[in-house]
Amino acid sequence: MPDPLLTVDDLTVAYDGAVQALRGVSLRVDAGSVVAVLGSNGAGKTTLLRAVSRSLGTVGGAVTGGTIRFGGQDLARRDASWAVRAGLVQVPEGRRIFRDLTVEENLRAGGYTARDARARAEATDRVFDLFPILAERRHQRGGLLSGGQQQMLAMGRGLMTSPKLLLLDEPSLGLAPQLVEQIGDIIEQIHAQGTSVLLIEQNASMGLRVADRAYVLEVGTITASGTAAELASTDDIRDRYLGVG
Ligand code: ATP
Repeated sequence: MPDPLLTVDDLTVAYDGAVQALRGVSLRVDAGSVVAVLGSNGAGKTTLLRAVSRSLGTVGGAVTGGTIRFGGQDLARRDASWAVRAGLVQVPEGRRIFRDLTVEENLRAGGYTARDARARAEATDRVFDLFPILAERRHQRGGLLSGGQQQMLAMGRGLMTSPKLLLLDEPSLGLAPQLVEQIGDIIEQIHAQGTSVLLIEQNASMGLRVADRAYVLEVGTITASGTAAELASTDDIRDRYLGVG
């Protein structure tokens, strides 16, 4: 069996000490795989990512039970900068890029942990190979990019530290179908280059297309899991998430 890169075990999360957003959630991401977490609005997908990236505290949430292990280490015992250095990087929802900085400056900001200028330049070149449109627009300010290009920049910035695991929060949100396809292709390329991906998606057909395994999250609990092919052929998933019946 491959080594688990990320293991979430029996995770419970509450907001403001009251609202239970996740109850007993368990999942794993094996090294070298793409795992999708599917679910509709309010199911708890963003909460799950916030727990893994340890940004819950900033929005009034807290882990109230269970464990999250990355590379065999209990994340509760490590600080957030350890996680980034160990290769766990989140690309936030809503393309939070620096609007007033150029594309190149945004990428440089993402590469702050790079050993030196040369390592940063190499990382920038890799990102430009993956997203040629960003190379073309390298001197343009982030705020002037289209929605799809901003999503690419957010992903590119996350890749600047050459993470082992990239956490993607709804990269397809608000994008036209053709761009969703393109983002799916890019996730496949990122995977092919050796980076594992945990992908949170409301767009189940995109999620199941790129993922090896997937989990369905409903009102804070996992209600189905399996290989992407298994889930795509399950009647209930087809009816409720893929819009075919
Ligand atoms: P979406 O696709 O709309 O982002 P989601 O699946 O990511 O949905 P979450 O945002 O994780 O869902 O929300 C899960 C539950 O937690 C919801 O009931 C939501 O109202 C609640 N919740 C989320 N953030 C907070 C917060 N900061 N304070 C209180 N409750 C919150």
